Amino acid sequence: MRVVSGIQPTGKPHLGNYLGAIVNYVKLQDEAQAAGGECFIFLADLHALSQAHDPAELTVNTREMVATLVACGVDPMKTILFNQAQVPAHAELQWLLNGTARMGWLNRMTQWKDKAGKNREGQSIALFTYPVLQAADVLLYQATHVPVGEDQKQHLELARDIAQKFNNDFCPEDAPLFTLPEPYIPPAAARIMSLRDGTVKMSKSDPSEMSRISLTDDADTIMKKIKKAKTDAEPLPSEEKGLEGRAEARNLITIYSALTGKSVADVLGEYGGQGFGGFKPVLGEALVEILRPINARFMELKDDQEALDAILARGAAKAREHGIPTLDAAYKALGLVRG
Ligand code: ATP
Ligand code: MG
Repeated sequence: MRVVSGIQPTGKPHLGNYLGAIVNYVKLQDEAQAAGGECFIFLADLHALSQAHDPAELTVNTREMVATLVACGVDPMKTILFNQAQVPAHAELQWLLNGTARMGWLNRMTQWKDKAGKNREGQSIALFTYPVLQAADVLLYQATHVPVGEDQKQHLELARDIAQKFNNDFCPEDAPLFTLPEPYIPPAAARIMSLRDGTVKMSKSDPSEMSRISLTDDADTIMKKIKKAKTDAEPLPSEEKGLEGRAEARNLITIYSALTGKSVADVLGEYGGQGFGGFKPVLGEALVEILRPINARFMELKDDQEALDAILARGAAKAREHGIPTLDAAYKALGLVRG
């Protein structure tokens, strides 16, 4: 069992990152250990270059992201926790895979279309080839399980296509180089939506702070954001089909259900018929309860730059070592001569 996943240090991690991905990092690090496998979680700082960024902020965000992940339960003794910039094999393998990935495949990626919007010509090449770096990230370690939110499912399918084509084109039939990775997506919270618009996903890069709950928000901020979250004027329905066409209501119910472990049907059974004025404080309190210990731990860790850098350095050394066999084999399969 090889678990591999990444998160961009492009801002403060939010509830969508937590419920969609980080909860599963923590779960799978234990499962990998029990199975005698490994878990690799990396900060995708190379991916962060795909959009405009401030170098000083990237440095701060990278350390804060380590502190947040550890505060959420990612244990550097169980997980190989590192940043891409310290493991050059990610960028190297991306280049090798650039020969295999097709323009047509990348052109179909919805993240590319969403993030580029109408201005495709003005985007960085890194934004376009983002999924190839992501393929390199997971293929380098022969990932079997990739815990991600639903928005990354398409990129994982592309990683499988790249792996398959590389194996077909350059490897003997009985000795494929790359393992085909499987996405590991939580059924209940695969796609948490913005608090301002129930049709777009919650994102670090959304310009509005009010669109997301950051994992480091304090209790007052959480209660304020939930109170201001967009809703409609109808009371909550008693059954799930009543959520059809009510994206914002569905999102708040989904969040509450994921936080408490209660099914959507049970939540609606309990709160159906009530207005948001009654439900929002209940949701806010549940969030505050879950995030309080994470927040406290984050505050303890965040200023210890030395300790955070040491975690990354240790993780990177291990990651470099684990990546060598696959990278070497990829060079060799392509017929590249190296001393
Ligand atoms: P950015 O806006 O910079 O792309 P992001 O919020 O999309 O940031 P990423 O670092 O790209 O965060 O993604 C980290 C992980 O969180 C990925 O596994 C992704 O699928 C997951 N994720 C991101 N947003 C959500 C969401 N709204 N719901 C569930 N999972 C999510
Ligand atoms: Mg993203």
